[in-house]
Amino acid sequence: MGTTWHRNAFVDDADAHVNVRAKALQYGLGCFAGVRAYWSDARRDLYVFRLADHVARLVESARILGLAAPFPAERIGEIILELLRRNDCRQDTYIRPLVYVDSDELSPTMTDVPVSLSIYCLPFGRYFAHESIHCCVSSWRRVADNAIPARAKPTAAYLNSALARAEAKRNGFDEAIFLTEAGDVSEGSAEHLFLCRRGQLVSPPSTADNLEGITRRTIIELAQADPLELSFTERRISRTELYVADEVFLCGTGAEVTPVSRIDHRTIADGKVGRVTRAITERVHAVTRGADERWAHWLSPVWRDAKRSSARVPTAARPTRRAAAASRRTPGTTRRART
Ligand code: PMP
Repeated sequence: MGTTWHRNAFVDDADAHVNVRAKALQYGLGCFAGVRAYWSDARRDLYVFRLADHVARLVESARILGLAAPFPAERIGEIILELLRRNDCRQDTYIRPLVYVDSDELSPTMTDVPVSLSIYCLPFGRYFAHESIHCCVSSWRRVADNAIPARAKPTAAYLNSALARAEAKRNGFDEAIFLTEAGDVSEGSAEHLFLCRRGQLVSPPSTADNLEGITRRTIIELAQADPLELSFTERRISRTELYVADEVFLCGTGAEVTPVSRIDHRTIADGKVGRVTRAITERVHAVTRGADERWAHWLSPVWRDAKRSSARVPTAARPTRRAAAASRRTPGTTRRART
C-alpha cells in the first residue's frame, strides 16, 4: 500500500476519500497538475521534471478559477518530493496533484468554500501503446477559454478531452486533434501539437484555446538551442496544413514526444518517424534524465537532497483512523497542515 497526500496529511492510499456528495465529483470543481519524475540508472536518482513550473501552473489554474490554492507553491513542491520519498519511488513515476472544492453542499458554487489539495503518485511508463500514432481531427471543438478556461487545467474541461478521445478510439484512431471554434488547430486531447514544414517547426499559440504547456515550452527552448538550432514559429495552423506537413508530433507530460504517422487516414510524408521529431525526442530524453548539465535547473532530485530537504519538509502528522474519519465528515480547509 502506498501513501497519498490528502488534505493536510500523508495517509494510506486507502484512506484518501471524498464523499459521493463532493462538489469536486458532482460538478468537477477543481484543477490539477500532471507531473513526471524520471529515474536515472546512471545517477541512481529520480528527477522531477520542471516541478516549480508545474506547481506554479497549478496555483495559476486555481487563481483562474477564483480558488485560493491551500498551500503556497513552494510548499506544494516540498510535499511532492516528500511523497515520492515516502513511496520509495525509484522508477519513472507520474504525480497527480489536485486542488478541489472540498464541500459536500448542493449547488455548483465556489465562493466561500473550503479548498483542499490531494496528491497521489504511481509508476508510469508510456502513455501511448504505439511508437507513432494515427489521429483524427475531432468533431468536438476545443472548449473555448471563455467557456471553461483552456489555458488552465480545470477538471471539468476533461469532459471535452474525454469526449474527443472516446470518439477517436471508437472510430479506430489513437488520439483526437481539436480545432478551435474558429477552425484553427488547437491541441490534442491531452497534448500539444507541433508540425514541421519546409524546415520550420511550428506550433499554435496558447490563445488557440490550449493549455499553457510545459513540455511545449521545453521543446521550443531545446529546439532553438545548441545542438539542434531549429527555427521555430508560433502561429495559427489550419487543418489542411496537417495533411501536407513533413512531420507532426504531439507532446505533453504524459505523452512525452509522440510522432503522428497518419491524420484522418492521410499518411504524413512517408509515414516514418521524421528526423526532427527523432532529434527532439532524443534531446528531451537526455535532458529529463539528467544527461545534460545545461538543463539541470529543470530537475529536482528526489534522493540526492533527501536528508537536507526532508529536514525542511514540515511533515504532517499522520491522522489516526478517528481523525481521518472526522476529516472526511468535515472536509479539509485552507488551513495549513500542522507541522
Ligand atoms: N493539453 C492538455 C489539454 C493537457 O491536458 C496536457 C497535459 N497536461 C497538455 C496539453 C500537455 O501539457 P504539459 O506538457 O504541460 O503536460
